Amino acid sequence: MNTTLPSQASVVVIGGGVMGCSTLYHLAKEGVDDAILLERNQLTSGTTWHSAAQVRALRSTRNLTDLIRYSVSLYASLEKETGQATGWISKGSLSIATNQERLTHIKRQESLARLFGVPAQSISRDEALERWPLMNGDDVIGAVWSPDDGRVSPSDLCSALVKGAKSHGAKIFENTGVTGILTNGGKIVGVETDKGTVKCDAIALCTGLWSRTAGAMAGAQIPVWSCEHFYLLTKPIEGISGNIPTLSDHDNHLYIRDDSGGLLVGCFEPTGKAIDPDRLGDDFAFQLLPEDWDHFEPMMMNALHRLPALETAEVKMLLNGPESFTPDGSFLLGETAETKGLFLGCGMNSVGVATGGGAGMALAHCIINGHTPVDLHEADPKRFPDCFNSVEALCHRVPEVLGKHYEITFPGRQMSTSRGLRKTPLHDKWEKEKAHFGQFYGWERPLYFEKSAEPMMTFGKPDWFDQVGREVAQAHDKAAIFDQSTFGKIEVEGKHAARFLNRICANNMDRKPGRAIYTAMLNERGGIESDLTAIRIADDHFRLFVGTTAIRRDMAWLKQHLGDEQVSLRDSTQDYAVIGLMGPDAAEIAKSVGAPELNDLKYFEAGPAYIAGAHVRAVRMSYVGEAGWEITCKAENASKVYDALHQQGALPAGIFAQSAMRIEKRFLAYGHDLDTDISPLQAGLDFAVAWDTDFIGKMALEKQRDVGEVNRVVTIVLNDETAVPLGNEPVYFDGRIAGKTTSAAYGYRVGRPVIIADCSREEARIEGARVEVDIAGELYCGQVTLRPAFDPKGQKMRPPSSK
Ligand SMILES: Cc1cc2nc3c(=O)[nH]c(=O)nc-3n(C[C@H](O)[C@H](O)[C@H](O)COP(=O)(O)OP(=O)(O)OC[C@H]3O[C@@H](n4cnc5c(N)ncnc54)[C@H](O)[C@@H]3O)c2cc1C
Repeated sequence: MNTTLPSQASVVVIGGGVMGCSTLYHLAKEGVDDAILLERNQLTSGTTWHSAAQVRALRSTRNLTDLIRYSVSLYASLEKETGQATGWISKGSLSIATNQERLTHIKRQESLARLFGVPAQSISRDEALERWPLMNGDDVIGAVWSPDDGRVSPSDLCSALVKGAKSHGAKIFENTGVTGILTNGGKIVGVETDKGTVKCDAIALCTGLWSRTAGAMAGAQIPVWSCEHFYLLTKPIEGISGNIPTLSDHDNHLYIRDDSGGLLVGCFEPTGKAIDPDRLGDDFAFQLLPEDWDHFEPMMMNALHRLPALETAEVKMLLNGPESFTPDGSFLLGETAETKGLFLGCGMNSVGVATGGGAGMALAHCIINGHTPVDLHEADPKRFPDCFNSVEALCHRVPEVLGKHYEITFPGRQMSTSRGLRKTPLHDKWEKEKAHFGQFYGWERPLYFEKSAEPMMTFGKPDWFDQVGREVAQAHDKAAIFDQSTFGKIEVEGKHAARFLNRICANNMDRKPGRAIYTAMLNERGGIESDLTAIRIADDHFRLFVGTTAIRRDMAWLKQHLGDEQVSLRDSTQDYAVIGLMGPDAAEIAKSVGAPELNDLKYFEAGPAYIAGAHVRAVRMSYVGEAGWEITCKAENASKVYDALHQQGALPAGIFAQSAMRIEKRFLAYGHDLDTDISPLQAGLDFAVAWDTDFIGKMALEKQRDVGEVNRVVTIVLNDETAVPLGNEPVYFDGRIAGKTTSAAYGYRVGRPVIIADCSREEARIEGARVEVDIAGELYCGQVTLRPAFDPKGQKMRPPSSK
């Protein structure tokens, strides 16, 4: 290893676990030959060395799955490249189900695998027993077999990555702790270490469970906390010879594999044990935490049930090692919002070894190119509000995240800890209306109302089905109120506001004050970074309404792209409430509350009014396909505006109703139907592209237009009224995969399940094309339509009475 620190490096990787080693390797391979890695102890000495190191490819999205597939091919090929073996063993993995809902869950995963091109196949209990004869299969009702999964030796893997990195010029410094991060004008300029200062342009923070403290050195908010994680090791057991597949018994919270002729039985118990990373200390190297048999006992009982051979096995140890978790169970990869050049590759949530190869590649790509190779919004460090970075919120949340790692991901599933962090100005009203809340970016938002009990978790017809139907009917037949206060709001002010926004946004923003404009901010590749609505309030003042979870990311994007324009940017999210008043009675209600002028507003026109004495600004627009207004008022006035509308007969409706209605109307949602890899042309949003303005991404869009890129988004209406599509399912045309569903819901106004899908095959994008959607292994027939499933064109608000 090297001894003299350079005074300068273009990139400094902090942390020598699998994430740091993989990032360094990929940086060096991509030509960053002066990159260095600083590890305060020894390589792998944090969490990586004691990892169970299973590599199971299938994740919830294609891009996360592809990261692991990349890992698999890297781990299998590194020896040839570097001469250092990685210990890659590919014996496959077996997931068993012991109840119907789990069977549906693993069958949904099998369908996803088909969509992503990952080999996986449903097998019977007997076939599962053939592959895993040591297991008690009495309660097993089905299984899915994934032949390509495997495992690796984490230390050997890191040695191979480091050897590869060094061969391309990278340098590694062990026993070199980073004690400070140097910034200037919001940019990384260097690191301080116990061996001296190194100037640099970028940092890859791969500091595992210590990342919250490490990030704080640069003032970054990194919501990562650790939990104890257990696995049992036995001495050799009869019946185990050579390597066997990994067994996943998630109903019993267990994973099981062979280890040196014995068994390794790991668990994600229902509630984990959080541990303060600072308690571990800086010199926590190659160390473990104390065994805790009391905590492990319920898991031991489960393991004894599944593995009768354990009864007589000799226990080697109960290994207890700390691992890092984030508030939503997904890792952090990418640049921070606040500090240019500070890139995160941490918070790996127990998949660091499996994902490390691909994640290191993606992080290196991001550092070199300014963006990840594919959309990875699930891992974007900008997806958390500050409130999740508190010790209290993290301590309560991460044990639940660990516990949910193997839980069935039912639709509508919510976290129960660290709730109530952010409340909208109408929260008390919603509590009185018996709202069932969901958490979005820390905010509590009503999913539906009139909740009588905790909703049952199911893949079938949900127990809130009728209530949501009533809320949709209210919006369709009378008038409903939707709380949209959590929209991110950004004030763009200054004499160059229009000029700036015209460069950043694809639509023409230079409209007269009083206009609302739907637009998208694009990257240089033409992909959608964000879609938003702007209101031009004055010549020099726009208010942008962005997605609830997009505010930090969008603010960062705007700041990053601000040039020499005289413009100020301010996050005003908390200052305003947004109340959606939608439905045919809206006109009459507006008149009754003393705001008849709202009826004079044309579509996408905004104007001021007074409701219950409070100043409001309303835009004639609708996300649900019923005519109405989105009414913005000061947060402190929200209650009286709501009361006035409510007294005139408008009733609350929740997110589930809104979502079902927007899918029927085919309004696309960011994170579902839109992301950074899809362009306005591919999403059918070319109506919001002003070709005569110059905006970021225009050249890429022009190229797409010239090669005939077309709208890939279609609506599918399923024939079977009882089908429950959820999104992320394969769509088949003529027996071959034609695309995937991106949003789905029951369409109450059309009386059928309705889907928005991204169809790559042209034959499936024809009006009336008959397609099939694979929902947990069952094929459901449906018709493609290029129009919205429900289009209330011509359906207007009832005109207000002349009284
Ligand atoms: C018991 C157990 C079983 C697991 N099983 C699996 C599995 O089967 N499959 C899987 O994919 N994952 C598994 N994991 C998770 C996986 O091991 C981790 O996600 C992964 O090792 C994390 O790697 P890392 O590089 O992010 O962190 P680490 O390996 O912890 O590396 C971070 C490094 O940063 C260094 N550092 C911190 N601060 C500084 C500083 N200021 N200056 C310099 N250096 C610093 C630390 O010393 C440490 O070496 C398991 C984890 C545990 C605990």
